[in-house]
Amino acid sequence: MTSTVRSGRSRFGDSTSGGDEPFRAELCSWLAEHPPPRIDVAATPEEADVLREWQGTLDSGRWVGINWPEEYGGRGASLTQVAVYNQELARVGAPQILGRAGVSLVGPTLMAHGTEVQRRQWMPRILSGADIWCQLFSEPDAGSDLASLTTRGEKRGDSYVITGQKVWSSYARFANWGIALVRTDPTAPPHKGISMLAVPMTAKGVEVRPLRQITGESEFSEVFLDAVEVPVDNLIGPEHAGWSVANTTLANERGATFVWKEQVLHEVAFDLLADTCAETGRLDDPLVRQALAQAWIDVEIFRLHNARTLARLERGEELGPSSSLVKLFWAGMSQRLYATATSVLGPDALLMPGDDDAVDRGRWVLGLLGSRATSIMGGTSEIQRNIIGERLLDLPREPRIK
Ligand SMILES: Cc1cc2nc3c(=O)[nH]c(=O)nc-3n(C[C@H](O)[C@H](O)[C@H](O)COP(=O)(O)OP(=O)(O)OC[C@H]3O[C@@H](n4cnc5c(N)ncnc54)[C@H](O)[C@@H]3O)c2cc1C
Repeated sequence: MTSTVRSGRSRFGDSTSGGDEPFRAELCSWLAEHPPPRIDVAATPEEADVLREWQGTLDSGRWVGINWPEEYGGRGASLTQVAVYNQELARVGAPQILGRAGVSLVGPTLMAHGTEVQRRQWMPRILSGADIWCQLFSEPDAGSDLASLTTRGEKRGDSYVITGQKVWSSYARFANWGIALVRTDPTAPPHKGISMLAVPMTAKGVEVRPLRQITGESEFSEVFLDAVEVPVDNLIGPEHAGWSVANTTLANERGATFVWKEQVLHEVAFDLLADTCAETGRLDDPLVRQALAQAWIDVEIFRLHNARTLARLERGEELGPSSSLVKLFWAGMSQRLYATATSVLGPDALLMPGDDDAVDRGRWVLGLLGSRATSIMGGTSEIQRNIIGERLLDLPREPRIK
């Protein structure tokens, strides 16, 4: 998918005023000299190579994992700098890096729970893109209720032997490492008998089967593990304590940082939609103007909410369950924006990239289809509502289904 930016003017308030201006200037001048490639996801091995190279370029300027400590290759960046970083990369249309699971999930997990040997072995290679990691948590019968996972990790001598199936593993087919949650003590209660292991994706018994998505891309895969032997040295954190280790990983997945990039991406998308409507005379239609006004309000609420979140984090406050509010709002906002876009732009906005008549080279239909994932990934909208109901509103707990 190719990014399309037209007018370059934003109809939103200044999202980043009060940010770290010297930091922003340094980043912007580096980005001006190192323009990003024009692809968003790695659908083919060739695109994966382009993204890998882009990550290497970013790393050469120390622009990957900027919030990691300096001793592990980061910049020890502040939260404001992380926000500015994500916004500026989104503004220049930079794609997500190929090794994002390694940088945003594995690195922080290793810092919290890994051994020093593991950190030295894996962390520099995560930053450079030499190693690409995937997250092997979800299973066909364990997603929202992750603790019910059944993939077994049986300890035999100096190894664990892993057998089971994982699913929805993003970028697994380009990954050479995976962090897997496996059940190492089947007799313990669900949350107590799980361990986290680093699995080489090239090991005997690992089979990766790409899943075709409605966008036509295959960003994620099923991963079959058939008696895969992994050395005990690959255990991350204590044995059987994988649930609390995984909570570090999931806190980073569900944490606040994704919102800065998403905010700018949605601002850019709205501006492009408004430009397209203006150029094609659609703004003469009051219903189109009302739909656009509603979409603008959505994105502006998201921007203001993010500004408040940043202020809270900078004051050292924990977000806790309130991060579910932003996840839920973002998912709905994204789906509404792309539904509005395809509705006001008409049938040609539903044509896929490559079709000569596709509006804005097919970005709206890809956005519409891709936004369906926002209410599933990183915790579904129903789960966010449960969290908000129980932990923010103090409503009675949901009855257990099982
Ligand atoms: C784009 C994308 C990328 C992903 N990448 C990865 C990855 O790299 N690695 C990985 O491990 N996983 C990944 N996932 C999987 C993701 O974490 C799961 O899809 C998610 O946790 C939901 O689990 P599930 O699909 O098994 O749905 P289920 O948990 O089976 O849920 C099915 C439906 O039931 C609802 N439901 C379930 N429990 C409750 C409840 N208690 N109360 C109310 N409603 C409920 C859900 O909201 C949903 O609508 C990815 C998913 C997406 C969409």
